[in-house]
Amino acid sequence: MSNATSLLDNYREPNPAPRHPEKAQRPDQPVARKPAWIRVKAPGSPQWEATHKIVKEHRLVTVCEEAGCPNIGECWEKKHATFMIMGDTCTRACAFCNVRTGLPRALDPAEPTRVAEAIKKLGLAHAVITSVDRDDLNDGGAEHFAKVVAAIQAVSPTTSVEVLTPDFLRKQGALERVVAAKPDVFNHNLETVASKYLEVRPGARYFHSIRLLQRVKEIDPGIFTKSGMMLGLGEKRHEVLQLMDDLRTADVDFLTIGQYLQPTRKHHEVVRFVPPDEFASYAEVALAKGFLLVSASPLTRSSHHAGDDFARLKARRLALRERL
Ligand code: SF4
Repeated sequence: MSNATSLLDNYREPNPAPRHPEKAQRPDQPVARKPAWIRVKAPGSPQWEATHKIVKEHRLVTVCEEAGCPNIGECWEKKHATFMIMGDTCTRACAFCNVRTGLPRALDPAEPTRVAEAIKKLGLAHAVITSVDRDDLNDGGAEHFAKVVAAIQAVSPTTSVEVLTPDFLRKQGALERVVAAKPDVFNHNLETVASKYLEVRPGARYFHSIRLLQRVKEIDPGIFTKSGMMLGLGEKRHEVLQLMDDLRTADVDFLTIGQYLQPTRKHHEVVRFVPPDEFASYAEVALAKGFLLVSASPLTRSSHHAGDDFARLKARRLALRERL
C-alpha cells in the first residue's frame, strides 16, 4: 500500500475517539430552546445530495458538517460547501466549537489537488477554505494553506478564494506565507469580545488576532480583510462596540455577526438569544464606524453568502475610490 493511499484511508476511517475529550468532565450546561426566529431549511434536497456526493467522492472535510452549521440545507442546495483542510481534528479546545479536538493526523499532500478539483466540479465562483488549528506543526499549516490556494488558482482560475485561518499564534512567518499566496479575502474570526476569551477561546489572544488582521493589510492592502463574532455568549453591548472599534483600527473591511448556538450540553451555554432587531442595530452602528460591509443576523456565519458578499465588497471599494 502506498503512503498516499494510507493517508486517504486515514481520512475515510471513522474516528472512534471521543469528539471532545477535554470537555468530558465538565458539568452539563442547560440547553435553551431555540426561538421562533431561528428556523432553517432542512437538508436532503437532490441538489444537497449532489454537493454531498462531490464532497465525499473527493474525501474532503467541511466545516458545514463538522461545526453542525444550521445553514447546511440552504448552502449545499446552492453547492456552497466550505472546506476545512488539514484534517478533522483541532489542537485547540474552544468552548463554543463542535470540531473534534485531539492529536491530528499527518497532513495529506494530495489534499490541495482534491480541494481544487472539488471546487471546479461544484462550479464555485467563490471558494471559502478554512482549517482546524494545527499548533502541532512548525508553521501552523501555513504552507499547506498556500498550496491549497495555489491549487485552486491553477485548476479554477476564475474562482475567487477566501481563506478563514487560525491565528498562527507563535508561528513566525506563517501569516506572511498565506498572504503571499494572494487569496482575495483574508478572514480570521475574533469569535467573541475580549473579556470572554479566557472562558470561550482560552488558547487564543484577543489582541494577537486583531494584530494578525492588521498585518494582512500592511503586507498587502489589496486583500479584503474580514472578521466575525458571535452574540449570545454573555457579552455586553459596549464590549461589542469596542470590538468593532478594534477591528476598524486594524482596517478590517467586513464584519459578520451571528447568534451562538450550543453544539452539546458540554459546550458553553447560550446566555441569550439575541433578537433580529438587535442584530440590525449592531449592523447600523458598524457601518457608521466605517466597515465596507456588515452582515449581522441570527443565522449569519462567516461563509454564509460569502460569494455575494465578495461581489458587494468589490463594488463598495470601487465606489469609495471613485468618490475620492
Ligand atoms: S454558512 Fe458556511 S459553514 Fe454554514 S453551511 Fe453555509 S458554507 Fe457551510
